[in-house]
Amino acid sequence: MLVFSAILPHSPLLIPSIGKENIKKLQKTIEAIKILRQDFESTRPDLVIVLTSHGDIYPEAFSINTLPEYKVNFGEFGDFQTNQVYKGDIGFINRFKEQVESSMSLSLKSLTDIDYATAVPLIYLAENYKNFKIVPINYSFLSYEQHLKFGEALKEAIYREDKRVAIIASAELSHKLTPKAPAGFSPNAKEFDKKIIQLLKQKKVESILNLDKAMVEDAAECGLRSILIMLGVIKNMNYDFQVLNYESPFGIGHLVAEFKLK
Ligand SMILES: [Zn+2]
Repeated sequence: MLVFSAILPHSPLLIPSIGKENIKKLQKTIEAIKILRQDFESTRPDLVIVLTSHGDIYPEAFSINTLPEYKVNFGEFGDFQTNQVYKGDIGFINRFKEQVESSMSLSLKSLTDIDYATAVPLIYLAENYKNFKIVPINYSFLSYEQHLKFGEALKEAIYREDKRVAIIASAELSHKLTPKAPAGFSPNAKEFDKKIIQLLKQKKVESILNLDKAMVEDAAECGLRSILIMLGVIKNMNYDFQVLNYESPFGIGHLVAEFKLK
């Protein structure tokens, strides 16, 4: 059964050894993640599915990193101390692959290091409670509808298992919120972030599916597709969408939110 579902940001600056001084500017985000962490710990998941927007993305297929063990590697950020290890759930992945093989485009891959968008939320949530396996899933560039369908199939897989499952959409909203933002500035970026949050609160999935592609492109987000898979998973479930924090100290929209299941 599904016991926990949330949207978390994945800025590497959230890791103290990488963020250093900058971490002060992310305090509200960190406080919000700590609140989420309490919920995460109290639900005691056996399996944590991470929907990530980095690492190897195959445009024509959803893909799952399939290994018995993964390592965190922040070498690209000059951090050689952080070295968490997480166990993979190959059984779940194989059963899911079998389930969707004839109806969906899904590829399995094997990468020893998990990407940072998988690692950052996990490091925060699993600071104390570590008794779970993980399944890191990359979205594709197939249609939004297919992402929703993929999520629905994932839900079926989750409820077939005798496991307590947490799902995390690792996502950042617009990367163009300020003139100094990493992807440049867009005057429409703020409006985009506001709109996404509002539509999530109002549970207007259809409106998210119909978002203007040019507007999404212009916002330079990384995670809308992760969120769409999540919406497929929780479709028809009774939940409240609770925003714990939203801020953009570096011109990137960091959203911490929980789909609080009732
Ligand atoms: Zn990102």
